[in-house]
Amino acid sequence: HKPIHVIGGGLAGSEAAWQIAQAGVPVIVHEMRPVRGTEAHKTEKLAELVCSNSFRSDDAANNAVGLLHAEMRLAGSVIMRSGDANQVPAGGALAVDREGFSDAVTAALAAHPLITIEREEITGLPPEDWDLAIIATGPLTAPSLAEAIRAETGEEALAFFDAIAPIVYFDSIDMDICWFQSRYDKVGPGGTGKDYINCPMTKEQYDAFVHGLIEGDKTGFREWEGTPYFDGCLPIEVMAERGHETLRHGPMKPMGLTNAHNPTVKPYAVVQLRQDNALGTLYNMVGFQTKLKYAEQTRIFKMIPGLENAEFARLGGLHRNTYINSPALLDGTLQLKSRPGLRFAGQITGCEGYVESAAMGLMAGRFAAAQRLGIDLTPPPVTTAFGALINHITGGHILTDEEPGKRSFQPMNINFGLFPPIEIPRTEGKRLRGKEKTIAKKQATSARALADCRAWLGLPQAAAAE
Ligand code: FAD
Repeated sequence: HKPIHVIGGGLAGSEAAWQIAQAGVPVIVHEMRPVRGTEAHKTEKLAELVCSNSFRSDDAANNAVGLLHAEMRLAGSVIMRSGDANQVPAGGALAVDREGFSDAVTAALAAHPLITIEREEITGLPPEDWDLAIIATGPLTAPSLAEAIRAETGEEALAFFDAIAPIVYFDSIDMDICWFQSRYDKVGPGGTGKDYINCPMTKEQYDAFVHGLIEGDKTGFREWEGTPYFDGCLPIEVMAERGHETLRHGPMKPMGLTNAHNPTVKPYAVVQLRQDNALGTLYNMVGFQTKLKYAEQTRIFKMIPGLENAEFARLGGLHRNTYINSPALLDGTLQLKSRPGLRFAGQITGCEGYVESAAMGLMAGRFAAAQRLGIDLTPPPVTTAFGALINHITGGHILTDEEPGKRSFQPMNINFGLFPPIEIPRTEGKRLRGKEKTIAKKQATSARALADCRAWLGLPQAAAAE
């Protein structure tokens, strides 16, 4: 077979190359280190972990990233195998010895007869004769390749920073306080005029909230990140610092909104949440990108009426991160619609985290290998962690009334909100409630995912307890 080219030997690229080679197809990995470095990598090893040494929870039954670990193990992941072999104690988390881990991945790829590793920077899109290629160059993609991607995909489709607003589980929002309404009841394409969840604030609550934002503990930017503030994308606390009323004239303006629970009293300010996935299980806080520390975010955002018991699927942030607008650009096999045969994998597709990046490398590798072998491979079902993540990246986004054509696409870790909801049967005639119900739902979602993943991989189903 003609080789498949993988650009970038990080978490995603290494896994993609491994999957391709294991399918019997030769692969060439082009990794620029040590010829050229990035601002965060320190070694020339493949799959270097640039920051923490944790793959997060390893609890497949109760945690979505643990579930993703389990699916990757079923799929013969080299990242998971190398992680498992280099574990260090970390309670329920899978943490690894970073040197041992990267050494293991590097050695596995170097020893594979179908894998060639070239140490070189790729400065443009793959040449025409690389008919099948995967770009897995990560959040710190070298500038000339980033420029070439931008030229292919369009100015608007490549971001260099993620300005992430916190995302809240719908279940945890108090709808006795909040209400559904689009500003001025505006109905956009496919909308209902009720696309936003609104949280009302009195003057006293607003004053206390603004004070909380200004006083809250923040993280700084790393020196090489620069200060990426640009208009329309200021951190919420920076807006608060600019003037006491700034937020009330910006993302928290109360105009065009009537509190359905109390129509005669005009709210002084309103926090809006916008549906974040087609399933309607997740809502993002509009305009709330922030550099507040995570603990401060959970404390301060719970001051918002209706969010007192909010559970966050992800917290806000603002980081240097190169990623493409995948929902518009990629098909369900991570292939660039405008250039079939060219795939993207890893963090550049808009997933977030070591494990998620590697998982998307695993998927891109399998799709590319199948294409080379002439096999028609359908993407995994959305009930699996693999499928839920692909769906988040390439499909499951909604258009909003107020911003037709604009998608809410921000990098996100895997979480149970990305899976289709599951009904929990009554146990011994009684309906589960509260925490018990949440746990039962997670466990049922996870069991369904593992069974569907085994079926997709063509593996026998596991006996009883997995
Ligand atoms: P990478 O692992 O970065 O791999 C991309 C590879 O491509 C690199 O080896 C790079 O040298 C190479 N490359 C780039 N451009 C070219 C080119 N033009 N030609 C050839 N090779 C090229 N996630 C976590 O889960 N936990 C964390 O603690 C964490 N911390 C992070 C800290 C920082 C500073 C950053 C930027 C990200 C962090 N992430 C973290 C997010 C993410 O999980 C990692 O960046 C992860 O490594 C992404 O995997 P990847 O394979 O997409 O990219």
